[in-house]
Amino acid sequence: MPIYRQEILILLLYYLGYSKFRNWVLRFQRTPLSRFVMFHDILPEYIGRFEANLHFLKRSTNVVSLEDFFSGKLSLDKINVVITFDDGYKSWITTAVPILKKLKLPAMFFVSSGFVGLSKEDELDFMRTNLLITPELKRITGCLNAEDVSRIVDEGFMVGGHTLTHCIIEEFRDNVQLRYEITEDKMRLEKITGRKIEYFAYPFGVHHNPEIDIIEILSEAGYKGALITASGFNNTDSNPYLLHRELTSASTPECVFRARVYGNYDAVIFIKRLIRMVF
Ligand SMILES: [Zn+2]
Repeated sequence: MPIYRQEILILLLYYLGYSKFRNWVLRFQRTPLSRFVMFHDILPEYIGRFEANLHFLKRSTNVVSLEDFFSGKLSLDKINVVITFDDGYKSWITTAVPILKKLKLPAMFFVSSGFVGLSKEDELDFMRTNLLITPELKRITGCLNAEDVSRIVDEGFMVGGHTLTHCIIEEFRDNVQLRYEITEDKMRLEKITGRKIEYFAYPFGVHHNPEIDIIEILSEAGYKGALITASGFNNTDSNPYLLHRELTSASTPECVFRARVYGNYDAVIFIKRLIRMVF
């Protein structure tokens, strides 16, 4: 995967020492710095890079579970990282879980239960219609079945909700339908895993609906927290239903991954906003 223009800016900021200086200043507040990273599918050609990035997290950060983040079991000296995965791909079982286990790293897997156990034909249909992936352009390793989801939990990892059909929350005008997407998904995952499902990730990172209070629905459904897809540190003051998450992937080059984990993309967002305001 090539390095894009935006990533060149992230790397430039990283090598200029932006994150080192900013994080040094933030440490004076004596509050833990926590950052969440996300993955989707792990294609065979990116397994090496994925593993190298996990080795970096193990070596240079304090990787914690989402539960540890919520209970405040965090380091003040290193950046705390929560590793997350979205959707429900077969590579989680064949690749992610074995590597995470080998490195003894915790992780959170957000599953769209409507994607679980589909036939090959339905899987392709779900990819096109619900995940908005063009299978001809982007190969995927397939969907998990219910036994796989259950195994993820048995191996010591956590599973979270991601809606029944991987819906776009912004598009709902009827809160009954949206509530069903969230509660039915939660119920199915609880049935598969035999555990309480307490954390949620917004599909496509879309967490806003102009007419429906999504946080109220999540809270009523019994969710304790939810993750958006936007760069930023999370701390004890963060809204638990709007926790930041870094858009990384298995194909992210090691230097870019490192620069993003240390928070250099925050500055890119700031620069973009500034340019928009001025021009
Ligand atoms: Zn997703």
